[in-house]
Amino acid sequence: MPTLKFAVLAGDYIGPEVMTEALRVLEAVARLDQLRLEYTAAEVGGAAIDRHGVALPDSTIKTCAAADAILFGSVGGPKWEKLPPNQQPERAALLPLRKHFTLFANIRPGLLYPELADASPLKSSRIPNGIDIVCIRELTGGLYFGQPKTTTTLPDGDIQAVDTMVYRKSEIERIVATAIIAARARRQKLCSVDKANVLETSVLWRRTVTDYCAKHAPDLALSHMYVDNAAMQLARDPNQFDVFVTENMFGDILSDEMAVICGSLGMLSSASLGAGRNSHALPFGLYEPAGGTAPDIAGKNLANPCAQILSAALMLRYSFGQERSAARIEAAVRRAVVAGTRTADIAFGGASVGTRQMTDAILAQLA
Ligand code: NAD
Repeated sequence: MPTLKFAVLAGDYIGPEVMTEALRVLEAVARLDQLRLEYTAAEVGGAAIDRHGVALPDSTIKTCAAADAILFGSVGGPKWEKLPPNQQPERAALLPLRKHFTLFANIRPGLLYPELADASPLKSSRIPNGIDIVCIRELTGGLYFGQPKTTTTLPDGDIQAVDTMVYRKSEIERIVATAIIAARARRQKLCSVDKANVLETSVLWRRTVTDYCAKHAPDLALSHMYVDNAAMQLARDPNQFDVFVTENMFGDILSDEMAVICGSLGMLSSASLGAGRNSHALPFGLYEPAGGTAPDIAGKNLANPCAQILSAALMLRYSFGQERSAARIEAAVRRAVVAGTRTADIAFGGASVGTRQMTDAILAQLA
């Protein structure tokens, strides 16, 4: 019986609420598919600040390092907003985790069931079949990390700030390799998004993607698009994409646009994969909902657990190679929602259920 060893970092506000539900679903799938779950909870974010004084205690890193994956909730909220920026839960927990485990590949499914088309700000005539695309964002390079990064006062008294966009060919190749795996599992279509008409890093990006795919993935239909056009095309006809891959900042912006057109944050999952291999010879990864801690609805049994549950499915797929169990969870969530069980965020003013009841409906659909 395969043993799935993961760390559970629930975080703050709705984080623990939706994490409890994701673990219920994982336990049920484990029973059905003969998997042994071995998970350890650790504190992160505001909860860790309250208990240990820091958002990411060493003990939490140790728990993660001893595991093959991290199931993450979300961190932050008004309680810790007055802390200096570098001690804020999100910045002081997530960024160091990404760095420590070299989580370079962020996979964000943009999924909207046709039955939920009203949740999208796009006209339903533009998305008759809902939305089903995947954004792959490079997460550890580019403008956010390049050096130098400075602010200086010039001799004439003016102030100048500098950020630096840097990419190495090897960094581009490893994110393209991830994109190829994702594209092969879907419709064999990959679009690379850059700004090669202006940026040197994008010229290298485009050349590297072209060469790498020609050599390693001639079976895929590869296309290229400038990022400004991609932003428009996402709003015009999102399903023209299948998998798109892009650098860090472009991906930050496009993945948020994608989240908006997909309607509720409560439905969107994400995976951040590392460069190393875990004890299953698969990527170590951190799996989390796309949304935050939703302090406005915390503690009211209102949070939609689907994003956390779908993130657990991604963990089964990418870090544990349990495709059948992952697909089982995804199908159960879909069936529960299509059958009409909805939390308030996806009920459009109609009848809605609470966090726990939503999970009960998903559990009922599992087998
Ligand atoms: P948010 O995503 O928490 O909430 C935005 C809106 O979406 C709210 O109305 C919320 O109720 C709703 N929402 C989000 N998730 C939902 C769910 N599962 N079910 C139903 N509705 C849901 O964003 P915010 O309000 O800007 O941020 C709140 C806190 O979360 C902040 O402290 C922020 O820093 C933090 N945050 C953390 C992460 C993370 O841990 N990765 C990500 C984003 C924001």
